[in-house]
Amino acid sequence: MHISIFELFSVGIGPSSSHTVGPMRAAVTFLEDLDDAGKLDRTFRLRAELFGSLGLTGKGHGTDTAVILGFEGEHPESVDPFSVAERLQRVYEQKKLRISGRREIVFDAKTDLIFHRKEVLKGHPNGMRFHAYDEFGEIGAEAFYSIGGGFVVREHELKEDQKARETAEVPYPFDTADELIGHCNREQLSLCDIMYANECAQCPSEEVDAYLDLIWKTMQECVQNGLHNTGTLPGGLKVERRAAKFYSKLQLHPEAALRDPLTVIDWVNLYALAVNEENAAGGRVVTAPTNGAAGIIPSVLHYATRFHPRKDEDKQVRNFLLTSAAIGSLYKKNASISGADVGCQGEVGVACSMAAGALAEYIGCTPDQIENAAEVGMEHNLGLTCDPIGGLVQIPCIERNAMGSVKAINAARIAWRGDGDNFVSLDKVIRTMLATGRDMKMKYKETSRGGLAVNVVEC
Ligand code: SF4
Repeated sequence: MHISIFELFSVGIGPSSSHTVGPMRAAVTFLEDLDDAGKLDRTFRLRAELFGSLGLTGKGHGTDTAVILGFEGEHPESVDPFSVAERLQRVYEQKKLRISGRREIVFDAKTDLIFHRKEVLKGHPNGMRFHAYDEFGEIGAEAFYSIGGGFVVREHELKEDQKARETAEVPYPFDTADELIGHCNREQLSLCDIMYANECAQCPSEEVDAYLDLIWKTMQECVQNGLHNTGTLPGGLKVERRAAKFYSKLQLHPEAALRDPLTVIDWVNLYALAVNEENAAGGRVVTAPTNGAAGIIPSVLHYATRFHPRKDEDKQVRNFLLTSAAIGSLYKKNASISGADVGCQGEVGVACSMAAGALAEYIGCTPDQIENAAEVGMEHNLGLTCDPIGGLVQIPCIERNAMGSVKAINAARIAWRGDGDNFVSLDKVIRTMLATGRDMKMKYKETSRGGLAVNVVEC
């Protein structure tokens, strides 16, 4: 079963992979299906129902925006984030949308976008159902599930998707960390080599390289945007953006920074804050492996390239991303990367583990040490709940990415100073994460009904 870098990393907009990127992809797919069936031209009304976690926190996470944009024919990877506010205002005021960008139909978000706060579809906590009507009645309806990291499946694909991956031919199949490290040790290859060989069995190597370069370029642009954009984040909590101010302070006294070696942590924090503020503002980000946790991998990779520069940086960056994807795929196969499914340990915890292993690879660790780093990165995130205040991906999410980034670097260093032997294996910690997620009460899984979400009064 192979989960590709093309699935684990995707370019989209904030604030949430499961609540924004996934629903937009689902809505546009629904319309494309209608078009293929020759029904789009006679569609004169659309309706969307959102269930489970989408119903509870969808508004704060921008699900309404995502569905409207999807109905207008937008894809998460190409939508212009700067045009979104104006387009939404038009849809809400005029009660009309441009279906697939072709012609206007009547659309009243108050009645055509329904948030079911108490109902859950049986396939996954993030379920949605779309309906299309012509003048005589319903001409199409389909349920979709946003299963984490922007992945979307139709009802019948929940099982088929898994089957297709199980039969995909790759030279080094692996379902567990044990199998992955086994390939590495047998073939004298690193985790990134294994992942690269598997990717290239499915897609030309030039395309794989180009995609990895695009991911890194998008991460860099996102950090730059986050370092310069100022103001208040949308959504009503009135959270001030901090990254630009931090950045000015850090640049102001570079000589003081030289006297304090821990200044490097300030930079790591800054990179993560920059990405997650962009995400919260609906900017362009890389889902890595989710939007809520999108700051950790770019932050640790910025740290690596800046403080451990390499001559062959392009290749090292690709290897970093490939290693992190190999680790992320283990969580996707054996547990979950959805906060609505297993809490924040599945988002920030997984990103921390991916970044820890990837950094270990970058600084020259053995496969056993890389596995150790990834394990440590998750072990100390076990039990982390998802409790966003106001249903917004802001508090605790933004700072949590900074904390996760620093933790990932520490995990890599712990592994680097060791010999790769560990008491708890990566496979065991993944199983433990899933079991912990299963035991976690629903209120701690992206419902905004527990934790900080109910203990901090919204202003
Ligand atoms: S608390 Fe964690 S899982 Fe929940 S929305 Fe924030 S980043 Fe995502």
